[in-house]
Amino acid sequence: MTDDFDYQLETLAIRAGQERSQFGEHAEALYLTSSFVADNAAQAAARFTGAEPGFIYSRFTNPTVTLFQDRLAALEGAEAAVATASGMSAILALCMGHLKAGDHILASSGMFGATIQLFSNWLAKFGVTSSFVPPTDPAAWDAAVRPETRLFFLETPSNPLTEIADIAAISAVAHRHGAIMVVDNCFCSPALQRPIALGADLVIHSATKYLDGQGRVLGGAVVGSKALIEPIYQFLRTAGPTLSAFNAWVLVKGLETLGLRMRAHCENALALAQWLETQPAIERVYYPGLPSHPQHELAKRQQSGGGGIVSFEVKGGQEAAWRLVDSVQLLSRTANLGDVKTTITHPYTTTHGRISPEVKAAAGITQGLIRISVGLEHIDDIKRDLARGW
Ligand SMILES: *Cc1c(COP(=O)(O)O)cnc(C)c1O
Repeated sequence: MTDDFDYQLETLAIRAGQERSQFGEHAEALYLTSSFVADNAAQAAARFTGAEPGFIYSRFTNPTVTLFQDRLAALEGAEAAVATASGMSAILALCMGHLKAGDHILASSGMFGATIQLFSNWLAKFGVTSSFVPPTDPAAWDAAVRPETRLFFLETPSNPLTEIADIAAISAVAHRHGAIMVVDNCFCSPALQRPIALGADLVIHSATKYLDGQGRVLGGAVVGSKALIEPIYQFLRTAGPTLSAFNAWVLVKGLETLGLRMRAHCENALALAQWLETQPAIERVYYPGLPSHPQHELAKRQQSGGGGIVSFEVKGGQEAAWRLVDSVQLLSRTANLGDVKTTITHPYTTTHGRISPEVKAAAGITQGLIRISVGLEHIDDIKRDLARGW
């Protein structure tokens, strides 16, 4: 792809960023090498100062990792991306690159548990404070801004209740206050939602989820403008939680089917959510693709599909929820998500287990809540397996 034709996501996912070696390989090459050899001393020096492009050491960059970064940046419609060892190291690197003691993070209350812990327990040790506001209320974000707020951080749809945050509205608030707007786009992937086009400055990915999509590797990335990515890259280059070449190669293979998989995840998830709404054992279903979802209209505007995550509340609290988790024979009892294999989780006692009962109650995470990451098995088999539980 050497032209500047405006290619669609499916094409970019297969073609963007590929540069063939002198061997002319058709598929993307995997460069398993820790370092790179310079032709002479002057070239080595120029590469270290950055005066000349070129590879030095795989903690800095590696051709397979660069390919993954370029391809993901193309999918998100961004200038640049930097890859990391996991989604959490992407969030850590973002904070290390852009924050200093005294700064404040304004974050969504409906976020991945480890992100909340990173902000509240670890960054706080270094003088970075954070506070949490509801993702669905842009006015609450405006009201909670402090003079030292540097970063807005949210996930949409949220985990596990699939609440939708209005990216454009909250980005406008962030920019009015001179803050950097960050969206964790893990649940949608660029196939369903492109936060940068909606006003976000940086996008976070746990590539472990839909980008790989087949439960094989851990990885992460930050995507955005060259200027905002540079300090994050400098931190990673120094500190080292970079993506391995092998994992980058696996992720490049995963991206090739991203568009197809996301369409299929959405189709299965919508069918499952509609069926769950008809089941007498179920109290309530959370899925952005359902008209009963409180932010259904916003989801339709902001996303090109409802996504693959469906949560629901069973009648009978934790006892009924655990009975359901224990009765499945096909679905995987695991907290992972974004996989071709359907997974089932009881958030109250697993992913959100370390959060106090009061905070869980306020966030709507009840003892009867079940989260399903709907995979690509046949929908009838998924339904039949769940129906064993009631
Ligand atoms: C899994 C996840 C992360 C963390 O990613 P890892 O690759 O497990 O480190 C961050 N955000 C969201 C929304 C996630 O689901």
